[in-house]
Amino acid sequence: MTGSDPRHFLYRSLDPDAARRLANKHLSAHDDGELYLQYAASEAFGFDDGRLKTADYHTSSGFGLRGVSGETTAFAHANEISEAAIERAAATLKLLDPRRGDPAAPPQRTNQAMYGADDPLSLVPFADKVRLCQQIDAAARARDPRVVQVGVNLLASWSVIDIVRADGFVASDVRPLVRLGVYIVAEENGRRESGHHGLGGRYLYGKLFDEAQWKRAIDIAVGQALTNLESVAAPAGEMPVVLGPGWPGVLLHEAVGHGLEGDFNRKGTSAFSGRIGDRVAAPGVTVIDDGAIEQRRGSLTIDDEGTPTRRTTLIEDGILKGYLQDRLNARLMGMEPTGNGRRESFAHAPMPRMTNTFMLAGRDDPGELVERVKDGIYAKSFGGGQVDITSGKFVFSCTEAYRIRGGRIAEPVKGATLIGDGPTVLTRVKGVGNDLALDEGVGVCGKGGQSVPAGVGQPTLLIDGLTVGGTAA
Ligand SMILES: [Zn+2]
Repeated sequence: MTGSDPRHFLYRSLDPDAARRLANKHLSAHDDGELYLQYAASEAFGFDDGRLKTADYHTSSGFGLRGVSGETTAFAHANEISEAAIERAAATLKLLDPRRGDPAAPPQRTNQAMYGADDPLSLVPFADKVRLCQQIDAAARARDPRVVQVGVNLLASWSVIDIVRADGFVASDVRPLVRLGVYIVAEENGRRESGHHGLGGRYLYGKLFDEAQWKRAIDIAVGQALTNLESVAAPAGEMPVVLGPGWPGVLLHEAVGHGLEGDFNRKGTSAFSGRIGDRVAAPGVTVIDDGAIEQRRGSLTIDDEGTPTRRTTLIEDGILKGYLQDRLNARLMGMEPTGNGRRESFAHAPMPRMTNTFMLAGRDDPGELVERVKDGIYAKSFGGGQVDITSGKFVFSCTEAYRIRGGRIAEPVKGATLIGDGPTVLTRVKGVGNDLALDEGVGVCGKGGQSVPAGVGQPTLLIDGLTVGGTAA
């Protein structure tokens, strides 16, 4: 292993042969499992009120040793990659029953690569990253005299992993990730409103340093803040809602996507459990999870169990077709792993997670979908949401939304929340636009205390009878 091979970060006090030998020694008695080695570097710059407020740099390395027998998992981790530490961790696995049948087959091999292996952090000098934040701050303030506060966040990480199995299977992945966020507060006549835009993906800093890209982020964030200065109280009640393309797909992710993850379905706690082949959505609704799209934030070359990512059809023309699987749930359900076994880091055991989850385009003209609404809401961007994963019940707050009056987009509204439940929402889709867009690469998905980057997307959607929680009397 040469010094230029990123894997040298994993093998400073352990050699690859020893890793294979230890995996064989401690995992052969079980149905499945792996020794997961990881080195990660991350940095974050926060620029606020014209000054650099935070500059963090962090590296970590460690391993997670997991043995699986039946539906029982034993997992131990440590932040020291050495033979002694792995031997100590292996004591935990002695609690597992030995396997009764053949061990699970290793993942398929792949030559696919969804991103390059270069480390984004080390390729750009520190001073250049601070200067970019300064440039964005100055450009945003110069854009409009009403801009009173600017926040800029620049983040990157680089993760090197090896997955080593008892059967001699070894898979490696090197994952770059970058993200830029621009946050604006505008003030007029004593009223303050905010706007935000972010972008990123599994690539190097170059794209974020492209002037056209960050200027566009400023345009969108400033535009949103100024629009919100004009906003009036949102109406309340049940009404048709048009969701814009792209990021509003986060509603699909939260309200439906989690319910299609294999663990909830194996345990029978999802609204979609046992319903493969059933109609769960309106005709025209097709939902996909695809981790194999180049350079997307939610993409992976292989998942955290070594399974190559792929395109999985979850719902096709309204019919439930499949679930998102890691190895454990796939095996217990008699299904195939789909490349969705993900973990936050070496210190966490994998579970079924989404990658990039989106609804495919339909045939409707987006403008025509708005024209079909006499009185309703056009939701262009969302902020935070709250979701009960198993029932799919959600509350989302719109960060940019408009009233639709007489088939036209009218005044911006403030404080609109969308309330509903995922399984019902999908049956109320009345129109699917021809304008599928994926989000711009800022999503973070939380589940079971683990955060992973994820992508969302959708075309313009017309949904009938969503409950809008507004603030208008
Ligand atoms: Zn999520």
